[in-house]
Parts: sequence; structure tokens; C-alpha cells
Amino acid sequence: MAVNVNEYYSNIQNNYLFVEIARRVEKYQEENPDADLIKMGIGDVTRPLTKTVIKAFHDAVDEMGQADTFRGYGPEQGYDFLIEDVIKNDFNPLGVELKNSEVFISDGAKCDTGNFQELFSQDNIIAVTDPVYPVYVDSNVMAGRSGKIGDDGFYENIVYLPCTSENNFVPALPEEDVDIIYLCFPNNPTGTTLTKDQLKVWVDYAKENDALILFDAAYEAFISTDNVPHSIYEIEGAKEVAIEFRSYSKVAGFTGTRCGYCVVPEEVYVKNEAGEDVQLNPLWNRRQSTKFNGVSYPVQRAAQAIYTPEGRKEIQENLDYYMKNAAVIRESLESIGLEVYGGIDSPYIWFKTPENIDSWTFFDILLDEANVVSTPGAGFGPSGEGYIRLTAFNTYEKTVEAMDRISKLEF
Ligand SMILES: *Cc1c(COP(=O)(O)O)cnc(C)c1O
Repeated sequence: MAVNVNEYYSNIQNNYLFVEIARRVEKYQEENPDADLIKMGIGDVTRPLTKTVIKAFHDAVDEMGQADTFRGYGPEQGYDFLIEDVIKNDFNPLGVELKNSEVFISDGAKCDTGNFQELFSQDNIIAVTDPVYPVYVDSNVMAGRSGKIGDDGFYENIVYLPCTSENNFVPALPEEDVDIIYLCFPNNPTGTTLTKDQLKVWVDYAKENDALILFDAAYEAFISTDNVPHSIYEIEGAKEVAIEFRSYSKVAGFTGTRCGYCVVPEEVYVKNEAGEDVQLNPLWNRRQSTKFNGVSYPVQRAAQAIYTPEGRKEIQENLDYYMKNAAVIRESLESIGLEVYGGIDSPYIWFKTPENIDSWTFFDILLDEANVVSTPGAGFGPSGEGYIRLTAFNTYEKTVEAMDRISKLEF
């Protein structure tokens, strides 16, 4: 007898990115104990939950402590009170109608985007934009949907769609056959977006090629540009070929509270071995009912509070705060002659290193000479080489200070 490990786990390239960043920062801090480091690397929010959210959260906790309002297991798919507010506030204003049974409340978009691949056969070919949010790739590697990673940083059997300044961060349609396409717009890490027309190209492609789009809209709330879609369902025909993931993490500071949702329209069908149509919505329902017991009642009440007029106003103030930081970063980097992307419809700023310095070398320059912690673009995939990501998730004062220091550097 022996317990055999899932060998596919050994295919995963250890993600040294944040570990390596932490190691370099720690070493620098040890050697320079007086250095005042400004952290602009990690993609986590910094502003606390708002008053209205906390009030709803508290009230719901109190309900849980009273016999007549106590709730045990809730619906695995989420409470209707939240689902109805999601549809009414996040989709109806865009002209998108959804049924309650098409929205699944969850503990976040990382979990949903990581879990969703379970519904598909192992021999499906996945495509990802490059650079990429690592969850899409790693969850498929674990499931055996890739081969080994090469020295060039690309996994076998995964199709990479480069997004660089050369194509203005608009991925080209794949030349080879692909089945499942992960798209994330506004994008992490590049901060760039697609227009409605540019996203329509992908919806049309999916329809023509029997492909499915897994659309991560975690940064939807940061969009300020007019013709950038907030939901993929704004694109005609998308309900037949797209799943959408949303998260309260970045919009409302729920990174530590945990809540999000995914939309699985009834129109989405995939094929079984016999070539017959299989509806995806009941499969995801089955998966969630079997492996998930729902998000806690107080958390769902807290999330619902975002949709009240007061809640909305407070959330917007936080978003505005971050986006003011993003503007400071953009403008400062541009003013010293750097090529800067993102930061308009997203809290991420992605810039090209000067003189084609590689990502990690420039990371060290920013750390040593400006005491600013960034994220090297190469950590998000081969096409991220030569870029750096900065985030707007900091205080305004520290953001200004960091830009001041970077502006004084000589490249
Ligand atoms: C932060 C982030 C998420 C959100 O994940 P949660 O699990 O909801 O906190 C999802 N996708 C991307 C691309 C992200 O950057």
C-alpha cells in the first residue's frame, strides 16, 4: 500500500514571486534598519470596511445570537436578498437581465476562478493572457491540464496570449484551437482594459469556435472610461459563451472578509463524450452544493450594505481615494519619461523599465535607491519581463513620497 500523490502538483512552478520579494525586502531592511520602505507591491487594499458595511455586519451577528433570528446552514448558492441586490444593482442598469438561479454567491473570485475548471474535461486546452493572474494557470496545472513548465517559463499545452506594449495590451486571437479562455479586464497585473468592440471580438470567437470565456471582472468598480464594459454580458451573445466572476474584495475592502459571486447563465452549454449538449449551470450548482456550504450570513448582509445609497457613497469615496493615488503614480512616472500603462480604470500601474533593464534588476534599483517595494512584471509570466507593477493601495501621503523619491533617481 502506498498513498500516491497527485503528480500534477509537481508540475507547478513554485511561485517564488512574493517569497522572493519578501526575501529581498527583509535582507535590505536588515542591512538598512533605518530605511523607511514604502510598499507598493502587494495587491491588497488598505482602507477599512466602511461604516454602513460594519453596521450591517454587526446587526447580522446580533441576529445570530438570538433564538428567533438565528440562522443555521444557508443556501449553498447564497441568500436571495443578496442575489436580488446583485442583479438589480450590478446588472440591470447595464441592460442585463439575470435569474436568481444564475448567480452564485461565494467566498471570493480566487476560489471561483480556481474551482471552475473542475467542470471541464482534462483534455481541454486553456488559453491565458500573458502576463496573468497566477490562479488561472496553477489551478489547471494541478488538474493535469498542462505539461511541464519549460525554461522559457511557458507550460506545455497551455496557450499564451501575449499582452505587451507592442499590441497595446490587446490579446490577439489564438492561432491554435483553444477551448477555455481566461480573460481579466480591467487587468491584473497590467491595469489595462478592453473596449466593448475589443471584447466583442472574443465573444464572437467563442461562439464561432465553441469555446468558453471565463471572465474575471474583479476590478469592474474601478472603471471610469465610457466604452469599457463593466460586464461581459453587455456584449451581445455573451450569455451563451461566458461565465463572469466578481469580487467584493477590491471594491469594498472584503479581502479579509471574503465574498464574491459568479454568474453562470442558463444559456451556456458544453459537450459530453457523445457530443450532446450539457447545461453548465446545473453542474456548477451541483459542484457548489457538494463542496461548499455557503458564505456566512453576516458576511452576506455586510456585502448587501454596499448597495444602499449610503454604502455606495462610502465605497465610492474609497475608490476615489485609490484612484487619486493611481493618478499621482501615472503622472509622476510619465513626467520622468517612463512608458506607463493602466491606472485609469484600475488601481494598478504597469510601466516599462528604462533602458530595457530586466524586471528584477529594476525591482532592486527601486528598493535600494528609492526604498520603494514594487512587483517585477516577470513574476506574472514571460511577457511581463521588462515591466514593473505598482499599486495604488497605499496612503496618499506615502504615494506622493514614493513618487518623489523615484523622480529623483537617475537612470
Ligand atoms: C484580487 C483579485 C481577485 C479577487 O479575489 P478574491 O478571492 O475575491 O479576494 C480575483 N481576480 C483577480 C485578477 C484579482 O486580482
